[in-house]
Amino acid sequence: MSERDLLMIPGPIEFEPAVLRAMGRPTPSHVSPEFVEAFGEALDRLREVFLSEDGQPFVIAGSGTLAMDIAAANLVEPGDSAVVVSTGYFSDRFADILKRYGADVTVLRAEPGSVPSSDVVEQALATTRPRLMTTTQVDTSTGVAANVEELAALGQEYGALSVVDGVCATAGAEFRQTDWGVDVCVTASQKAIGVPPGLALAMMSPKAMEAFEARKVEVPNYYADFANWLPIMQAYQARRPSYFATPPVNLVLALQASLRIILGEGMEARFRRHRLIARAFQAAMEALGLRQLPTSPDLRAPTISAVYYPDGVDSSLLGKIRSDGVVVAGGLLPQIAGRYFRVGHMGAVSAGDLLATVGAIERGLQRSDYEFDLGAGLEAAQRVLERL
Ligand code: PMP
Repeated sequence: MSERDLLMIPGPIEFEPAVLRAMGRPTPSHVSPEFVEAFGEALDRLREVFLSEDGQPFVIAGSGTLAMDIAAANLVEPGDSAVVVSTGYFSDRFADILKRYGADVTVLRAEPGSVPSSDVVEQALATTRPRLMTTTQVDTSTGVAANVEELAALGQEYGALSVVDGVCATAGAEFRQTDWGVDVCVTASQKAIGVPPGLALAMMSPKAMEAFEARKVEVPNYYADFANWLPIMQAYQARRPSYFATPPVNLVLALQASLRIILGEGMEARFRRHRLIARAFQAAMEALGLRQLPTSPDLRAPTISAVYYPDGVDSSLLGKIRSDGVVVAGGLLPQIAGRYFRVGHMGAVSAGDLLATVGAIERGLQRSDYEFDLGAGLEAAQRVLERL
């Protein structure tokens, strides 16, 4: 990969220079006043990013999978029932994790590219009365966005804690933790949060923390146990140094830098930019005659697009796009992985990045002898981008 390649995969993404400078700084002590302030600021600002008025943030070294693992380890007790609303590969991963902690899991599946209907979800909630329900806000394997607001309201109606996997959504897709009544949102640093891979993030509602406090059985995972982490987060929020396990100091400094940029833009402006950038890309794919994985336009995510190769074109398209300096990703859903590709458009992504990507896709299609009007995708994208 050239150092000038444009990374348009669904994470890691292109990072802001200020974030990368924070990564490259000489590492201060994790108990120095400067770091205590940076960690405290990052924790405070996370609430603003999740639009959570009273959530307890956790920032722990690890990837998004660890954030899912932590949520399950702290909330599930053996024999609890759980409902997983599956929209793809990562939803299924949540089911595996919940089972590992002894949950009795009901997985609700729909055909690839769609979301189980609210009727199906409601029926499962009514019959199993689960302790928790998980939803993947954007499943990165399908580019499908679930209606988290509606699902969380259903969960609440049936007394289930609503747990959202926001790994491919948080800080890009619209999300309002308090207003929507979401109890847990887990995410990771490397996508719309805009920090290199390595941070597992979680925001827990007061109800979720009460559920943790009321556990009868000790958390069976030492590293994940909130009993170890809660005093640490609270200490840094109160601007006091503390120690359970060494924090990833430079990643936390990078998080502080990225959250400043995110909140400088403002959450509402950020949601709108992601929506428009996604629409521009998705309009371009339509104009090129390419079908998308989500079965209807309202299910298409604002952070990632999943697009089928047209007839006569295969995954060699990825190499052709890459030879123009743009890196996109292949398919992930096992049963159809070879039939589609994925493009991430989140975080620092600009109109220029998007046009470069559409242009490189057009050139790749042209070299694959696919017939289309050269420039049609770019024109469709430009029409949407005028509104940015
Ligand atoms: N959930 C979703 C929706 C994801 O996109 C990913 C990563 N692509 C994960 C969970 C797992 O995150 P990580 O790879 O950081 O462990």
